[in-house]
Amino acid sequence: MTHDLGPMPSTSPDHTSEHTLDNIPKHKLGPMLNAYPDSIGGNLKAMVDFLDRPELADVFSSFYILPSLYHTDLDRGFSVQDYDLDESMATRDDLDRLSDLGIDLKLDFILNHASVLSPQFQDLLTFGDDSTYRDFFIDWNRFWDGHGEMTAEGYIQPDPDVIKDMFFRKPGLPLLMVEFPDGSRHPYWNTFYQKVWREDGKLKYLGQMDLNVKSPLVWDFYSDTLGTLAGYGAKLVRLDAFAYTSKEVGAKNFLNEPETWDILERVRQLAAPHELELLPEIHASYGEGTYEILANKGYPIYDFFMPGLILDAFERESGIYLKRWTDEITGKGLRTISMLGCHDGIPLLDLKGLLSDEDIAKLIETLVSRGGYVKDLHGQKKMYYQVNCAYYSALGEVEQRMLLARAIQLFMPGKPQIWYLDLLGGTNDYAAIERGGEGGHKEINRTNYTLDEALERLKRPLVQKQLEMIRFRNTNPAFTEDADISFECDGPKISIHWDTNGKHAELNANLSDCSFTYR
Ligand code: BGC
Repeated sequence: MTHDLGPMPSTSPDHTSEHTLDNIPKHKLGPMLNAYPDSIGGNLKAMVDFLDRPELADVFSSFYILPSLYHTDLDRGFSVQDYDLDESMATRDDLDRLSDLGIDLKLDFILNHASVLSPQFQDLLTFGDDSTYRDFFIDWNRFWDGHGEMTAEGYIQPDPDVIKDMFFRKPGLPLLMVEFPDGSRHPYWNTFYQKVWREDGKLKYLGQMDLNVKSPLVWDFYSDTLGTLAGYGAKLVRLDAFAYTSKEVGAKNFLNEPETWDILERVRQLAAPHELELLPEIHASYGEGTYEILANKGYPIYDFFMPGLILDAFERESGIYLKRWTDEITGKGLRTISMLGCHDGIPLLDLKGLLSDEDIAKLIETLVSRGGYVKDLHGQKKMYYQVNCAYYSALGEVEQRMLLARAIQLFMPGKPQIWYLDLLGGTNDYAAIERGGEGGHKEINRTNYTLDEALERLKRPLVQKQLEMIRFRNTNPAFTEDADISFECDGPKISIHWDTNGKHAELNANLSDCSFTYR
């Protein structure tokens, strides 16, 4: 039977008649929901109630819950105080219910940093030089000792030759000045966010403080954390920003080789007894080939290229670059986690080497004209990183285009990760940017819905048809890890085929008018 989701109204398909749900490729290629614990209904309990509804039955077999389910502060979860559950967000019971629904978990392990409010950093602030955790974090002045000039502010300005290969995400040096009990001030390495303010005449601060991987205590902490995540039911552990963990004087502070790979291997050895698969998160341009190094080391990789390539395919009305990338995935046997939107922006820096710089610039212009937000690193226009934009808005909020984008994702190789906002047809949330203040641009595609709002959205054809396609993928036996996948492209026409043991599934689409059928 053919499912025609082209501009003509489609008839309701009856795809479950031939195949049973036993065919769901559980935990391997099975579709994965992605959301914060409070994205729907204010906490994980409400989200589980949502997933337990008949409308959502047999749709997702995995769930990537963002890290605000732990005790966290800044960066909506990525500044972890400790990995215990924040009971206002999630309880053990919620996790058990997910497991009962047959849904396994992908969870974050943020190995580069921990919050100022973590017990380890608090110990440092309480006991100063006498703290057990004196070297758990990176004391900037100890790190650069002998390699720079002490400034009047009390931090070492490293000599130019020792930092020339370093990459700093923010203007100035990545440090946070903190106070020890004796009143002495010490700069600590702080790659990501920080917040400093005065309250009742006192200096207050929060920050994502970089961990010192040279400290054995950090490795004990890593080991404990992996055990905790396994205990929550994690099968896949996302190694957040792992490439920042290694720093060496005179070398790099991002993807420092070979140290970064050594760290990764040590983490893998710690994860192995817990049967955790690791998904290292790294944004790097295609041309650098980092995705392939990771794949060759046996890791699944994030398909950070696909979101931009699909947008590009609609703009140029040709799937030529999508085909090229698909052929590479299948040819090299890469194991991918694919996505359209996610909690971060749409990755575009990653496309360098796959698309020309002009094409990437054009894509950015298009997304910005559709309300996307570009944060220029260090004010340098050319160093584009991600465009913060809801994926549906990035597609011009054209329903048929969103449906075809989802169909392509579901037919591309890999395990599809599905951002709740895209599934529910959410668009750019400009009010949330305003409310978010500094760093608020990231809120553009993170709108929280009440349970009622989410249930109301489920009735929209845009949502219904996405669910229909996900169910098709779940129940069609051609979608296996052993499938032969082929991608054909003829001008605006594309088709993607999956074949497993004589079972066949295919998508035929036209990128110009966004009509498509699948069967
Ligand atoms: C996450 C970001 C986060 C950063 C720091 C990333 O790669 O995806 O959302 O701000 O790591 O933890």
